[in-house]
Amino acid sequence: PSLHSQRHQFVVDFVRKNKPNKVADLGCGECRLLKRLKFQRNIELLVGVDIDGAKIKKKMQGLAPLSTDYLQPTYDQLHIDLYQGSVTQRDARLRGFDLVTNIELIEHLTLPDLELFSSVVFGYMRPASVIVSTPNSEFNKLLPGLTGFRHSDHKFEWNRSEFRSWCTQVCLDYGYEAEFTGVGEAPQEQQESVGFCSQIGVFQRLNVLPDRDEEEVFSYTLVYSVNY
Ligand code: SAM
Repeated sequence: PSLHSQRHQFVVDFVRKNKPNKVADLGCGECRLLKRLKFQRNIELLVGVDIDGAKIKKKMQGLAPLSTDYLQPTYDQLHIDLYQGSVTQRDARLRGFDLVTNIELIEHLTLPDLELFSSVVFGYMRPASVIVSTPNSEFNKLLPGLTGFRHSDHKFEWNRSEFRSWCTQVCLDYGYEAEFTGVGEAPQEQQESVGFCSQIGVFQRLNVLPDRDEEEVFSYTLVYSVNY
């Protein structure tokens, strides 16, 4: 499977194991991860957010129920909402989630925006779990013909130690703990020295800090909503 699909499969596996009821995917793009998550029966509320409204709208109709979905007696209640909005801005409708995923999103943010992202996701949304994936720059030497970043819109690409120190600081600032993994393996003999192609941090909230920022702000625009 493609690297893209492996990252989404990582989230699907996490959802199967941890059974979150409310899941939000930030930087959802063309909703490909959401389309896979809607088949997970434990999910009651599925939300996608992207700054690019046109990109969301391109494929969002694919989230609509098929007539056969209603014929499945085991199909539980599912509500899906898609918002146009920026992860640098707070929106009260994104609070109270069990899981918030950020797949190949943070490297598209400038460092000042990354600070805002941390305060919005970990400080304001405060979900129980957060998944963040981002390129591992140590792997780049194995990508043929690559000079510079993997994508022209990337603002940075971090090695494993840079990613870990960012995650560790977020944990200290906002009361989370993180574990590190990834997807996309190097050939056996290079696995240790370069790591995974995409590095992944899985964060769990520790409930040691009181919620400080509870202001009701609504900055996202609802672009799609469907009930199963
Ligand atoms: N997560 C998707 C996936 O796995 O295929 C898309 C990843 S794509 C590389 C990055 C996405 O982040 C784009 O759809 C882009 O529009 C979105 N994005 C960039 N900056 C954003 C921001 N400040 N707020 C919300 N989304 C943003």
